Amino acid sequence: MKIIVPANTVVQDKRVALAPEHIPSLTALGFEIWFENCTVPFSVDSYKAQGVKWTDDKADLCRDAALLLSVGGVSSEILNLLPRHTRIVGLLGGKTQAELYKDFFTQAYALELLPRISRAQFMDVLSSQAALMGYWAVIQVASRLPRILPMMTTAAGTLFPAQILVLGAGVAGLQAIGMGRRLGAKISACDVRAKAQEQVESLGAKFLHLPGIQDGEGSGGYARALTVQEQRAQQEFLKTVLPSYNAVICSALVHGGDAPLLLTKEMLSLCQPGTVIVDLATHLGALGNCDFTQAGKGIRFEEVTTIGAFYPLSDLAVSASLLYGKNLLALINLLWNAKTKCWTSPKDDPLLEAMCITE
Ligand code: NAD
Repeated sequence: MKIIVPANTVVQDKRVALAPEHIPSLTALGFEIWFENCTVPFSVDSYKAQGVKWTDDKADLCRDAALLLSVGGVSSEILNLLPRHTRIVGLLGGKTQAELYKDFFTQAYALELLPRISRAQFMDVLSSQAALMGYWAVIQVASRLPRILPMMTTAAGTLFPAQILVLGAGVAGLQAIGMGRRLGAKISACDVRAKAQEQVESLGAKFLHLPGIQDGEGSGGYARALTVQEQRAQQEFLKTVLPSYNAVICSALVHGGDAPLLLTKEMLSLCQPGTVIVDLATHLGALGNCDFTQAGKGIRFEEVTTIGAFYPLSDLAVSASLLYGKNLLALINLLWNAKTKCWTSPKDDPLLEAMCITE
């Protein structure tokens, strides 16, 4: 039984679906692992030492493949070469991409669609990757802010802690709060979901209530898209608090929709000189929470620096791949029944059914 890992379709994405340390548990299940020759954040020799085969030949790679693991989507060149009914697992882009995979008679599982329930936590790549993005955002702030994050008392006087505002307290936002606090910054955060307040406060940050929004929770525990009126009320509120902060980390998303617009270019002129704005919502190249940020770019406007994340986990490719691969191992244990040596049908498990975009 063959598992294959093709090269990433997005060249900026430096993560890999499996790290060398994930290989032994797959070979113990009887799988043979093949990689397409590409740059990975680990030594190729450490894969080869575990028996992984490397090839430049896509046809060789795809021949008899039973399972394809990827970080992002899969190229049509690879899809064309796959045997019928190969299982594909990756961040495939959700239901909107289903047609692409159906045409090739594959069984595709989009990891974005995994229900966020307790049983699924071990397979939850959205959470493992978002947590690292929260860390990345704080590191960006710390390295570009013209001041230190913690309070420091010296003979020359006292420096007070930097003030960071986190917009969106999901997995990434909460990790940014925790990390920022560990580095000594004072953090405030806001979210449209009322439940987020307790989580923010448990991390020692201040929760800012958004006036004019009762509870922005929609289906599946995710935030709903705000009405135009609510969106305006949120922007008006942010205008009043922005001048108090040295940095803003934007991590607000609406599942399956566009990122909400929280900061406009005009609002940037309200910021203190030297303010750093890190927009995580641009991380896949889409529009962010600030209409001025651009994916993959650091842009200055007046005295404000804005950073638009673009595949930010390429900077942390080792850690991101270690967590991603561990999530995949948990999913493979669900997908492949080691006792019966059979694949589990998506109809037999609600998690697989929710992720399967082709049946
Ligand atoms: P996400 O990436 O979809 O969104 C990030 C955050 O942005 C969310 O907290 C959302 O409420 C917030 N947001 C959206 N619009 C906003 C706006 N206009 N202003 C401010 N904030 C806004 O979310 P996520 O990090 O993937 O988490 C989504 C949900 O899943 C949360 O309820 C989280 O607690 C839950 N979750 C559950 C588990 C589990 O195992 N039970 C695991 C992970 C996440």
